[in-house]
Amino acid sequence: MRTDSLLIRGGTLLHLDTPRVERADVLITDGIITAVGTDLPVPAKVIDADGAWVLPGLTVGHHHLYSALATGMPFLEAPATDFSDMLAKVWWRLDEALDEPSLRASALAGGIGALRAGVTTVVDHHASPNFIGGSLETLDGALDEVGLRRVLCYEVTDRGGPARAAAGLAAHEGLLGRATDGFSAVMIGAHANFTLEDHTLARVGAMAREAGVGVHIHVGEAVGDRALTGEPLVARMRRLGALVPGSVLAHGVHLSPDELAMVADAGAWLTHQPRSNMNNAVGYAKLAAFPQRTALGTDGIGADLFSELQAGWFRASEGGVGWFPSRWLELLHQSSVMAGDKLGLQLGALRPGAAGDLSILDPIPGPPLTGDNLAAAFIFRLTAAAVRHVVTGGVQVLADRMPTRVDAGEVDALAQRQAAALWGRMSDRPAQDLTRR
Ligand SMILES: [Zn+2]
Repeated sequence: MRTDSLLIRGGTLLHLDTPRVERADVLITDGIITAVGTDLPVPAKVIDADGAWVLPGLTVGHHHLYSALATGMPFLEAPATDFSDMLAKVWWRLDEALDEPSLRASALAGGIGALRAGVTTVVDHHASPNFIGGSLETLDGALDEVGLRRVLCYEVTDRGGPARAAAGLAAHEGLLGRATDGFSAVMIGAHANFTLEDHTLARVGAMAREAGVGVHIHVGEAVGDRALTGEPLVARMRRLGALVPGSVLAHGVHLSPDELAMVADAGAWLTHQPRSNMNNAVGYAKLAAFPQRTALGTDGIGADLFSELQAGWFRASEGGVGWFPSRWLELLHQSSVMAGDKLGLQLGALRPGAAGDLSILDPIPGPPLTGDNLAAAFIFRLTAAAVRHVVTGGVQVLADRMPTRVDAGEVDALAQRQAAALWGRMSDRPAQDLTRR
């Protein structure tokens, strides 16, 4: 996805790397920002952003696009009593029912939702136990159609037996080592400590090291994970060689401050998903002890990072975490830094040399925006509903809130058909037994 040149003219830039507000134009050439300023050369393609706000493209640090068709799906038994019951009744039943067409529909629908929230990059954690081989290629193709950068992996697990564990590992091979111009990268995925035997988690770590990529895994999401595993989770990953630099450890709700420090020392990342943590009632993360390299994810609850950040702020205020609003902007920006590491380019910045990824928002009337109040504006003022245009790699992929590369009406019709079929398959399946591994 390359272009000649594109000028974003007349906008007010909202910088997230160092919070500040600047009136300037942005010139993108061959997918990379080449100039920021005024009186820039005017190419054939121009987006008029006069009076509008310009944000760097946002990154969802931990997502599950396979759940995009889950909204409104029927609950078939009594409400879940705890997180393991939720996995058995809902999420593991959903992933077992996924096939190629439903996954593609999920990715297209979820991808359009991401663009409409100003997201240009998604770090995804994928599971579809009855469609393992080829699943990452399906996600990759669909997100490429929509116009999103992506960091993909398959959640390897022993939950379905050794053949499925081996297939999960093999699912990564097709995407490893490809030249993708910074649009697609792969990590080695693992579901969670408590569903992987020692030898499988060791293989995940070895494969990641050999490929020079990180591991993407759920760690300490629920309070029972450690008891099921029998040892501290991060220490176990380290013992098995799976605490690879650049790894992404999602949730970390029940990690001790020592374990959180161990993650940071290993050069790995944590991700925080406050809405999912509240939705699954897994407990409250010890945010005050989370390291600098913490990214913001959604855990599959759409891709609206404005809402995620707002929910996180309110929960942290209630929980007495003591963070300034600016810390939340850091989380938002760190997601882009993390994904940029995987994709081999600078994301989340409106400066020469960075990727030409940005969104243009309708201005929301109010007090003057400054670098000092930008973080508070994210909490109390900005909303995904204001996102009008999105540019990924210098290509306009959302125009007046409609995707330009896929037909939103066709995707909606496809998603409706596939959701009905998916929910039908779910109702034919019993709730999964939650075994240790
Ligand atoms: Zn997750």
